[in-house]
Amino acid sequence: MKQGKCPKCGSEEIYAGVEVLPKSGPFGSNSIPISIVSIAALDNYVCKECGYLERYIAEPEKLEEIGKKWPKAGDVAHEEA
Ligand SMILES: [Zn+2]
Repeated sequence: MKQGKCPKCGSEEIYAGVEVLPKSGPFGSNSIPISIVSIAALDNYVCKECGYLERYIAEPEKLEEIGKKWPKAGDVAHEEA
């Protein structure tokens, strides 16, 4: 999607909200919690054809932080239903 092609419909009408300020919106929208004291703002990529949305963490430092603080997905124990 960052390369300008929609993974859902194949359109190249992709628009990147990377310059939109503020990066994180009111009440923490357009951001995700990393820890109780840290949130990461997101860059949005939208397909104008089908409306598909992808979000990426904007700051490399936040990715580093997640790498240190979060367990890897394969290591997370899943509850049996
Ligand atoms: Zn699309």
